[in-house]
Amino acid sequence: MNIHEYQAKDLLRGYGVAVPRGGVAFTPEEAASVARELGGPVWVVKSQIHAGGRGAGRFQDNPGGKGGVRVVKSVEEVSSNAAEMLNHVLVTKQTGPSGKEVKRLYVEEGADIKRELYLGLLIDRATGRVTIIASTEGGMEIEEVAHNTPEKIVKVAVDPATGIQGYHTRKVAFALGLEGKQVGAAAKFIQAAYKAFVELDCAIVEINPLIVTGSGDILALDAKMSFDDNALFRHKDVAALRDEAEEDPAEIEAAKHELNYVKLDGNIGCMVNGAGLAMATMDIIKLYGAEPANFLDVGGGATKERVTAAFKLILSDSAVEGILVNIFGGIMRCDVIAEGVVAAARDVKLHVPLVVRLEGTNVALGKKILAESGLPILSADNLDDAAKKIVAAVKKEAA
Ligand code: GDP
Ligand code: MN
Repeated sequence: MNIHEYQAKDLLRGYGVAVPRGGVAFTPEEAASVARELGGPVWVVKSQIHAGGRGAGRFQDNPGGKGGVRVVKSVEEVSSNAAEMLNHVLVTKQTGPSGKEVKRLYVEEGADIKRELYLGLLIDRATGRVTIIASTEGGMEIEEVAHNTPEKIVKVAVDPATGIQGYHTRKVAFALGLEGKQVGAAAKFIQAAYKAFVELDCAIVEINPLIVTGSGDILALDAKMSFDDNALFRHKDVAALRDEAEEDPAEIEAAKHELNYVKLDGNIGCMVNGAGLAMATMDIIKLYGAEPANFLDVGGGATKERVTAAFKLILSDSAVEGILVNIFGGIMRCDVIAEGVVAAARDVKLHVPLVVRLEGTNVALGKKILAESGLPILSADNLDDAAKKIVAAVKKEAA
């Protein structure tokens, strides 16, 4: 789960990470009142969307205008810029061409930027350790820095048995070219960010840019936090920060029915039980020259209702031109699946080809239910046969 910049800064501030003062605003009036409270002379009005590249992004209705992060010098300008941004669609490198509507702003005191650095914390899957990533090349996308000038990135892995130590933070501080009192300030900053990362079960904490101000202070000018969904149950306060408007509606619907659904770019919808079988199904669709429209694992103990919900979810994607159901009835019986498939196909007035491959407990009964349903369901005997049939059926429809 991701959260907004202002929420991340509030959480990090609570751990002792140095962040500028600021406040969230949902209207231009609120933005002006936050600005008055902060006091001038410089404010920054920042679009709050779950995507980066806001500074360089442009509003859809004014591509020649200013971006999603604006530095202004009066309270009037705070509110006029807020009006130009709120309820307008911001397009950035990370939002894709359709952009994201800005519903909230963060109004912050302006900072005097001397240097823009990069600091990130993540779990390195190769070492299984929380790893600090730092670079002198802040303010730009770290992926680009990693690609063009990998020597400008330093990585420091933290052993969970020792936790973060002075030599970790010093290594980072020196790599960032910090000196004097900044080394101590950076140590405090990094320790606090690490504590937040571990205690809140984060997947990513990214400060880009981390700045050095004219007076030599270190501040988080931007903050991104992403959390491990599987640990959210023990962080009710973090879970409450979820902004559903920023998430894929189909994925929210899936979560309600305990379905693991990830939307993809292809045209063949997949309904499978078990993540491994779902991956294999996607692979074999690709092998036969087509692309899956989604990953969907209905789980081991799926009910008829859940199968129906899964079916509707797949069909809510207008790119879907055919569906492949691939179920191994182990704990779940094939006849229950077949009933669910038939009920759902009737319910949604199925309009695309459907191939069903069932195997396992009560498979004969399951196939009988499908055959006697009167619905145009193509039955398959194995995974290979199923993939060939659905790819051919979709190609035939398109021709
Ligand atoms: P992003 O583009 O979505 O990553 O948003 P950021 O929060 O990183 O802001 C983009 C850029 O705006 C930063 O890299 C800074 O150069 C600039 N910026 C943000 N806040 C301030 C500020 O207080 N003062 C000044 N002068 N520039 C700022
Ligand atoms: Mn940034």
